[in-house]
Amino acid sequence: MTVKPLIILPDPVLRQVSKPVERIDAPLRKFAADMLDTMYDAPGIGLAAIQVGEPLRLLVIDLAKEGEPRAPQVFVNPEIVARSDDRSVYEEGCLSIPDYYAEVERPAAVTVTYSDLEGARREMKAEGLMATCLQHEIDHLNGVLFIDHISKLKRDMVVKKFRKLARDKAPARMLG
Ligand code: ZN
Repeated sequence: MTVKPLIILPDPVLRQVSKPVERIDAPLRKFAADMLDTMYDAPGIGLAAIQVGEPLRLLVIDLAKEGEPRAPQVFVNPEIVARSDDRSVYEEGCLSIPDYYAEVERPAAVTVTYSDLEGARREMKAEGLMATCLQHEIDHLNGVLFIDHISKLKRDMVVKKFRKLARDKAPARMLG
C-alpha cells in the first residue's frame, strides 16, 4: 500500500493541464492502485492523478458508502461526450482544498467515455453523485477546481485562506 502526498491549494501544479495516458501497462496499474490507496486513506470518493503530482489523464472513484464493500473504478483518458440540459446542485469538497465545501451547479447527467485498465474503451451514462464526481475529477485534468464554479468573492476568500495556511506551514528558514 502506497499513500502519496496530496497537492494542496494554492500549489500551481493543480492548474496544469494533464496529458493523455499513452500506455496502459503494469506501472500505470500500480500507479492507479497507489491513487486508490491515497484516496481511501484521505478518505475521499474521487482523486485525479494531478492531485498527487502526476499530470496524467487518469482518475479513480469509489462511491461505496461506509460499511459497503469497496467499489473502485479507474478511468483512463476520460472524456465527457454528452451533458444533460437539466442541472443539479451538490455540495462539493476536494482533497486538495481540505475542509472547504460549497454548492456547485452542474449538468445533472453526463455520458463519459474512457479506457479501463485492460485498455478497453468504455462508455458510462452517469447521474446523481457519479455525474458530479466525474465532472469534478475531469475538471482537475484540465486544471479546473470546483471553486472556479462558485462566486469570485467566495473563491478569493478561499484562496486567500489557503495561501495564509501554506505560509504558516512553511518551515522557518534556518539562519547561520
Ligand atoms: Zn477535487
